[in-house]
Amino acid sequence: MNNPHLHLRIETTKKSRIKELDTEPIPFGKIFSDHMLVANYSQGNWQDVQIIPYGPIDLSPATSALHYGQAIFEGMKAYKNSNGEPLLFRPDANHQRINQSAERLCMPAIPESIFIDGLKELIKLDDDWIPNKNGSVLYIRPIYFAVDESVGLKPSDSYKFIIISCPVGAYYSHPVKLIVTEKYVRAFEGGTGAAKVAGNYAASLIADREAKEKGYDNVIWLDGIHRRYIEECGTMNLAFVIDGVVVTPKLTGTILAGITRDSVLTLCRDWGIPVEERAIAIDEIVQAYHQGTLTEAFGMGTAATIAHISTIGYQGEDMIYLR
Ligand SMILES: *Cc1c(COP(=O)(O)O)cnc(C)c1O
Repeated sequence: MNNPHLHLRIETTKKSRIKELDTEPIPFGKIFSDHMLVANYSQGNWQDVQIIPYGPIDLSPATSALHYGQAIFEGMKAYKNSNGEPLLFRPDANHQRINQSAERLCMPAIPESIFIDGLKELIKLDDDWIPNKNGSVLYIRPIYFAVDESVGLKPSDSYKFIIISCPVGAYYSHPVKLIVTEKYVRAFEGGTGAAKVAGNYAASLIADREAKEKGYDNVIWLDGIHRRYIEECGTMNLAFVIDGVVVTPKLTGTILAGITRDSVLTLCRDWGIPVEERAIAIDEIVQAYHQGTLTEAFGMGTAATIAHISTIGYQGEDMIYLR
């Protein structure tokens, strides 16, 4: 963090692609706004911070992130208020989290002048891309990866940080059907489950695919040791309402500390709704379902928002129509 002040070069696009937004509904994550922020880290310094037209980047086939996975990301959103002014939701929390993920993968921290100030400039420039119709918002995707041209296994000396953004509609347009996976594990204590590491998602795809083949939208992960305690969904954190209490797995180092989760728990506490962060065995959910004390289940995440869960499949049984 040798350069606390942002030296930002801005090159605006010659031809906006904003017309691409005229489709309805907006497909999730496929149309990108006009500009992107790019910053490079090398020789111990952040340099060449620029906002340029969105487009392909040059990479060597020896780019180390492609071989050994030193790659992390973030997910956040920009909205417009009723005066049409752009708003970011808790970007400081995403900045803090990307640096925690970076530390886990031996990557240098990203200074606030780049992550926050650079992001604000980018969103100001592309604010026409923030949709202001029913539930659509601008999804912001910062990515950060190793770019040493080397197949030697060691932390890279050079990195690229990029922010792109895309207007999105709802991620789940219907209540979500989840199935508990007993075959695969997402994270172990001491592993990378609490970091937004690209490889975590690659490792989860097969469980997701098998869930979809069975007619579910996604999986519920259990802990890796007992295969009994609920962790999360892999794109969102989970909460259950049992006997009027909002219960959610506590952060043990294997679950991603969602900013949406934190916001929901804070609001519940402010509103006087009882909240418990603790271990939740899947048998407890089954029992509460049969006793009728499980009245609600929902997911929490930036992309998924608050997603109502309509079905939980476990050991061949479907717990359905949780209200
Ligand atoms: C990003 C993410 C979440 C949700 O976090 P938010 O900050 O609320 O968007 C939950 N679980 C995993 C594994 C994630 O990657």
